[in-house]
Amino acid sequence: MQSLVQIVLIGAPGSGKGTQARLLSQQYGIPQISTGELLRQAVQSRLPLGLEAQAVMDQGLLVSDTIVMGIIRDRLVQPDARSGFLLDGFPRNLEQAQALEKLLETLDRPLTVAILFQMDSEYLIQRLSGRLTCPQCGAVYNRYTSPPRFDDQCDNCGTLLRHRSDDNEETIINRLRVYEAQTEPLIGFYRSRGLLAEINADGPIPTIFRQIRRVINEHRQRRAPLRPRKGKVPARQSKSPAAARTARRVSTTSAKKKSKPRNLPPAKKRSGKAKKTRSR
Ligand code: AMP
Repeated sequence: MQSLVQIVLIGAPGSGKGTQARLLSQQYGIPQISTGELLRQAVQSRLPLGLEAQAVMDQGLLVSDTIVMGIIRDRLVQPDARSGFLLDGFPRNLEQAQALEKLLETLDRPLTVAILFQMDSEYLIQRLSGRLTCPQCGAVYNRYTSPPRFDDQCDNCGTLLRHRSDDNEETIINRLRVYEAQTEPLIGFYRSRGLLAEINADGPIPTIFRQIRRVINEHRQRRAPLRPRKGKVPARQSKSPAAARTARRVSTTSAKKKSKPRNLPPAKKRSGKAKKTRSR
């Protein structure tokens, strides 16, 4: 018996989370929940929260935790998320990670795994500044490295491709800074809970997809409910809960790669609403 698939994807902007999230969503039949996309929809629909978020998004800073947690709470209780979910771009700081942990505890739906997309930051600026996305089918292209066959038109559905307004160099630098300062501490957060899996996000899409499926399956088996055999105590149950937790932590991903220092110019001003992160 396998557990639900409930995944968090962590990675710098441009590390390919969105592309993999779409494939995983099809593979496991679970919704891709991208807070960035939900916020962009709120901006387009001119919802009050969208208008509030827009200025912050245009600067590449984080939208307030209150807005983002409201969106997530509403989304996770939708019927399509009952069989699992894939969180893309959420959580983005420790406060959000803690709030998510509490929410999932309340719903009695533990996280399967948090997958960290490792990639050298030097590629990220080029990947982001050339990025084109299809608003219809979600396909992602790059002007420099993987352009569409016809100018700015989606190869799959012919829709006019979109260049995100926050994919300009100044905002990109801010977004990478914010990732480093506020999102990277999540690595320690999930590692300490035995939930972190790191994958090399620099390579062909199918290779990355295979790595991800492997770590999901490993973590699903760890989380699968045990079916005790008659008269026998299963080996995993013979440990005390605390010992089992420790064993899980030790056996989880061994890669402790520190991210390379990035040669980015100093961050632009920080949003008043963006919370400071604490390193653990
Ligand atoms: P993304 O599409 O994930 O790159 O997000 C685009 C922008 O939306 C980010 O630069 C933030 O301004 C905002 N955003 C997305 N997700 C979050 C989040 N979890 N917390 C705060 N802001 C977010």
